[in-house]
Amino acid sequence: MARAWLDKNESPRDVPEEIKRRILELARETDFARYEGPYLERLRENLAAVNSVDKANLVLGSGSDECILILCLAFGGPGTRVIIPSPTFATYTDAALWSHSDVVNVPRLLPDFRLDFNEVMRAATAAHVDCPSGRQFASVVFVCRPNNPTGDVCSENVVKELLAVPRCLVVVDEAYYEFSGLTLGPWIQDHGNLIVLRTFSKAYSIAGLRVGYTIAPAPLAEAMEQRRLPFNMSLFSQLSALVVLQQAPYFLRWAHELRQACEDLQASLAALPGVKVWPSSTNFALFTTPRPAADVHSWLQERGIMVRRYPGEPLLAANHLRVSVGSPAANTAFLQELATILNSPAQ
Ligand code: PMP
Repeated sequence: MARAWLDKNESPRDVPEEIKRRILELARETDFARYEGPYLERLRENLAAVNSVDKANLVLGSGSDECILILCLAFGGPGTRVIIPSPTFATYTDAALWSHSDVVNVPRLLPDFRLDFNEVMRAATAAHVDCPSGRQFASVVFVCRPNNPTGDVCSENVVKELLAVPRCLVVVDEAYYEFSGLTLGPWIQDHGNLIVLRTFSKAYSIAGLRVGYTIAPAPLAEAMEQRRLPFNMSLFSQLSALVVLQQAPYFLRWAHELRQACEDLQASLAALPGVKVWPSSTNFALFTTPRPAADVHSWLQERGIMVRRYPGEPLLAANHLRVSVGSPAANTAFLQELATILNSPAQ
């Protein structure tokens, strides 16, 4: 059994007991035999209020993973370019392929993994010229902000320029919003081609209950609704999300604590011999190891410490790993085991 799960950017602490009790009380009052209950509407109302948007701007999914798939089905398809600044969150590629879109990977630029603005612009602009007419969008650009796994934050100006490309849909994934405090949500009021993604899986600590949502201009939300399966989110997930959202101050304080813990982890990592840590405004950090990433990963795994490696990513495969901030005990175990391998002579 692993000692430390630091590979999925999950919250290292479960939902507190009293909040769980409220979830279970609501569940007990709920008629599980029915497809629908009162919670979805209430959740939508609360999310609309929290984000200062209308309910018509929201599409809820079973995790933001499902929202990514729904939007690729709604706006992608053969002839539409889905432009992915790589490395980034892997589900974009899966969803783009499943929707039979044309996937265009645009490698990020070294040394700091920033999105290659010129290349992304070129790909999006060419898509506009090549794409069969009749399709609303010729290109879909995924901007993960902050980016998982590199931590890079794409500038507002870059997003603005992308939004100005004709028939280009810009998807800004804000999965780590509660940590970074960065959002372009309000921009949907002025941009008919912007979609913002959010999740309850990180700061809100209910990854296993699968709740995510999009904030989109009403016509785009409507188009997504047409690709959403009815009853895609279980009653239990709906009522749980409603309860945790009502406890937002607790979870936002928790996000703040995790950010501090992540900063401490980054500082400790940077003090290890030969390690470089990339800036982060999230609950994870990317770091460069002086030993091959595969060796460090196996060493940690054999000692019950799970971190993420990227064998399929040319820019990261050789010597980068991603670690999520965990409990104090997990962070210490990780740092100790990493220090041991880095301080031992290479084989
Ligand atoms: N977007 C990003 C950038 C993520 O890192 C993740 C999860 N790791 C997701 C979306 C998916 O989150 P969910 O659990 O809501 O499907």
